[in-house]
Amino acid sequence: MLKVTPLAVLQDNYIWLIQDTNSDSVAVVDPGDGATVHAYLEKHNLTLSNIFITHHHLDHTQGIPELVSHYRPTVFGPRDSEVEGITHFIGEGDEISLFGHKVNVIAAPGHTLDHLLYLIDSKIFHLFCGDTLFSAGCGKLLEGTPQEMFHTLQKIKKLPTNTLIYPAHEYSMSNLKFAKKVEPSNADITRIYQIYSNKVNSGQSTLPSDIQTELLINPFLRTNNSEIVNAIEKRYSTNIETEIQTFTALRAWKDSY
Ligand SMILES: [Zn+2]
Repeated sequence: MLKVTPLAVLQDNYIWLIQDTNSDSVAVVDPGDGATVHAYLEKHNLTLSNIFITHHHLDHTQGIPELVSHYRPTVFGPRDSEVEGITHFIGEGDEISLFGHKVNVIAAPGHTLDHLLYLIDSKIFHLFCGDTLFSAGCGKLLEGTPQEMFHTLQKIKKLPTNTLIYPAHEYSMSNLKFAKKVEPSNADITRIYQIYSNKVNSGQSTLPSDIQTELLINPFLRTNNSEIVNAIEKRYSTNIETEIQTFTALRAWKDSY
């Protein structure tokens, strides 16, 4: 069995801890803070066997040296990435084994060009998606084109709807406010906002989410929705003809929101 736990670090990052409940071994995704991971493992008598890196940004990688010096884990990360400490360079189509479970590596250019997603198959699927997909939002396009990010999101949309998703930031509440603005009549956004508010008020993470929820509330996965298309046409006084146009305008709108 896998147990997945968020460690809240830095301003709003999550390091996801993946624990094999049959052993004392743990993997972490995107350790932006080594000391927090180290303290957690010490406290719970656990050891670190693997690190997974989604992309090269420092808030996802700067804990690697400290963790490597203590635990000597296997460090998986994107090919052509200059992240220090990666021991196994991987990319699209690669398959890894973690605690006896299959992990598929999916290329996800958009936020950065090196971005990878990790899909773990353990009864249901668990998707570790870094800064590509957030609940009710998606990553900023810091390196890739809107086309690249749109195609990356289409891959995610095709996953089984019960796939759990584990983004690297707690952006859910502000994302939902934007989602509500572009699609005011969507009752699921109001419903999920209430559920997330209750979690935040009791000090919990709003995550993980799942694909089914995101298909209902995430405007970046709803680029064929007529209310969203109309809102964009009105705001930018333009005619939208393709979903990529909708996505591009939506991302620009969110950037200035
Ligand atoms: Zn990033």
